[in-house]
Amino acid sequence: MTRLSNIPTEHALARSGPLRAERTLGLAESVIREMTRLAFEHGAINLSQGYPDFPAPAAIKDAAKGAIDADINQYSITWGAKTFRDALARKVSRQFGWEVDPEREVTVVCGATEGMFASMMALLNPGDEVVIFEPFYENYGPDCALTGAVPRHVALRPPDWTFSAAELEAAFNERTRAIVLNTPNNPTGKVFSRQELETIAGLCRKYDVVAITDEIYEHILYDGHEHISIATLEGMRERTVTISSLSKTYSVTGWRVGWVIAPPELTDSIRKVHDFLTVNSPAPLQEAAAAAVSFGAEYYQQLAADYTPRRNRLLGILENCGFHCYRPAGAYYIMADISAFGYVNDTEFVKHLIKNIGVAAVPGSSFYKNPEYGAQQVRFTFCKKAETLAEAERRLQKLRPGR
Ligand code: GLN
Repeated sequence: MTRLSNIPTEHALARSGPLRAERTLGLAESVIREMTRLAFEHGAINLSQGYPDFPAPAAIKDAAKGAIDADINQYSITWGAKTFRDALARKVSRQFGWEVDPEREVTVVCGATEGMFASMMALLNPGDEVVIFEPFYENYGPDCALTGAVPRHVALRPPDWTFSAAELEAAFNERTRAIVLNTPNNPTGKVFSRQELETIAGLCRKYDVVAITDEIYEHILYDGHEHISIATLEGMRERTVTISSLSKTYSVTGWRVGWVIAPPELTDSIRKVHDFLTVNSPAPLQEAAAAAVSFGAEYYQQLAADYTPRRNRLLGILENCGFHCYRPAGAYYIMADISAFGYVNDTEFVKHLIKNIGVAAVPGSSFYKNPEYGAQQVRFTFCKKAETLAEAERRLQKLRPGR
């Protein structure tokens, strides 16, 4: 029997269940964040969790300091400071030609992580099905577990991480309420093409499904690849929740400033979840965010141009050591095949990498429901200074194929 309250009763009923909610019992520590912890513990070069080790742009740091000095230190409007929402709507209009109403269609949240969670809480009932491409960013699993939604996985297959349209359609049924999309994709670096997005959009319309799209790497693109927001495709605007953040575009992952753009009715529910969960994203940092999203096009061109040599450098380092790499078209990760090294699985390999080689990566299995699918893959990030990558290269010399 499960009791509803922890307050002892006269009858002192014997507790048969744990003191914690069942919905938390299946959750494990985030593997990505665990790898960062282990990297610190063992003094390893941290190519696991995706955060830059180089400085954020001076202009936004100054704007943040200025906002604190100007005493913008109290709660903002719960769904976001007006200056920031207005500036964001202007950015989206410049970027996609998409007119967003900052009063009714924008919610500022504590990072894309809260954006995804608040959206799922706002839009899904327990038992509703959600289609999720696999491999997937690990948070989407716990997001489903906490909201009670049931994930249905559809494979993205290397080397191009494409999906079968037939397999995708087979994952849709009358219980499907949403599809989670992440483009540019973490961990694969895939950038969904217009044709692929049209296929997905067609199914969303046919089955009356919402697209919840995580576009946090929207400005980190290589080799001429173009980022397309599914919200901009015909008939999708009214059924799309678009999530992004300052974290990756402006190299401030610790600020926790993200946003959700959705039609007014969906926004109304998302704002309610957000309000009762976190009230608001940090107020002074939203002022800095207004400055950040007002940067001109050259900022984004430079960002992508700066990431290209980092990607090429890490590809070269890993391939020289015997990894087989899948070349990313966007984002800042490389999925690498480790078959050449003869390890039983990815976690054993990463343990060796962290403890004996001194470089941390993320085991591929953490991006799959069935760990076996990722047992010969690991993910490395290259959002690092040239000297960090050089030190990783020096250490990786000790790694030999076939052991
Ligand atoms: N998105 C980053 C990654 O995949 C980390 C995000 C996080 O740990 N909150 O490494």
